[in-house]
Amino acid sequence: MTTDFAATKRLFHLPEGMIYLDGNSLGPLPKSAAARVAKTVTAEWGDMLITGWNKAGWMDMPMRVGDRIARLIGAEAGHVVMGDTLSIKVYQALASALEMNPTRRVILSDTGNFPSDLYMAEGLCRTLGPAYTLKTVAPEDVWDQIDETVAVTLITEVDYRTGRKHDMKAITARAHEKGALAIWDLAHSAGALPVDLSGCNADFAAGCTYKYLNSGPGGPAFIYVAPRHAERARPALSGWQGHAAPFAFDLSYRPATGAERMRVGTPPILQLAALEASLDIWDSVDMADLRTASLALTDQFIAGIEAACPTLHLATPRDHGLRGSQVSFRHPEGYAIMQAMIARGVIGDFRAPDIIRCGFTPLFIDESDVAAAIAIISDIMQNNLWDRPEYKTRAKVT
Ligand SMILES: *Cc1c(COP(=O)(O)O)cnc(C)c1O
Repeated sequence: MTTDFAATKRLFHLPEGMIYLDGNSLGPLPKSAAARVAKTVTAEWGDMLITGWNKAGWMDMPMRVGDRIARLIGAEAGHVVMGDTLSIKVYQALASALEMNPTRRVILSDTGNFPSDLYMAEGLCRTLGPAYTLKTVAPEDVWDQIDETVAVTLITEVDYRTGRKHDMKAITARAHEKGALAIWDLAHSAGALPVDLSGCNADFAAGCTYKYLNSGPGGPAFIYVAPRHAERARPALSGWQGHAAPFAFDLSYRPATGAERMRVGTPPILQLAALEASLDIWDSVDMADLRTASLALTDQFIAGIEAACPTLHLATPRDHGLRGSQVSFRHPEGYAIMQAMIARGVIGDFRAPDIIRCGFTPLFIDESDVAAAIAIISDIMQNNLWDRPEYKTRAKVT
């Protein structure tokens, strides 16, 4: 192993006494991000004002940062661009893919997908007309359900609830064999495990950066367009920043070359600056090392909880090949149990109806953190410490 995870851990601000098992939902603050953002605010926005778009290179940031993300997801340089939110990027990928497969009308997804992806697909179908439909099947049926009616598959590689991982290569190959395109949502993959978009022949992919990639709340998403489609994919959200010459102010749209055409409007420079600080840390990380460390942590957590807490039922696959970088347990009182954990400094989250979800992020979580979390959860479960009224009232964000 060449990655020094003890060193990466020191680069994050981790509050004293907190074991943060929610880097899969909102990554922690890289210590250098505060200074980096402050510099962008004062030395760039403050002193350069509008000239920052040229002088500080703001205009090129979406592609420049996209190239740094590309390394983490096995994408070709020049084919990943930053901007907007993941929901928007999913919509863009879907709209382009449907237009590229014009004789077909079905979007295929699965019931394990994140609702926003499904909602975006529903909304797009409504706009395109009654011939278009979203077909949602059980995750284990996806491969079988790809047939000659399917225009595009929209699959999230790692299930946000259970942490079950799809076989990207096999599903993409099946989609292509049946004449469909394949879009991958990497929300729980980018920064969680090695991804090989190029090797899997994916057509489009999108993901967010505020989870495993630590760009902070509201950090921009990314979208990947395979090089073979780069000049053919037509953006439905054809904003001026994706125009071939934004400052020509033409009255009609002409797409920029390649993935850059997926830009829509003005990029979030302060969030991109925070993301760059995080990517400095990612530059020192070997993705194979990350996977090895992640599987060791999730194995340790599964074994420890199962040994001490028989009423918690594992929802995550035991098979390494089928697992992302999170572990989920089911319990009918999952919400209250999670509140009791949070009260003791073990931060995870709850996903309806009954999922206790914990993310394992080797950049800042190590074996001793997992052992301490197991001890606290065991105490909570063995002594029913979760069974208090104040732990049962649901907050807006769970
Ligand atoms: C987190 C997540 C999203 C969130 O989308 P935003 O537009 O960034 O809010 C979408 N899809 C999946 C699969 C997610 O896990």
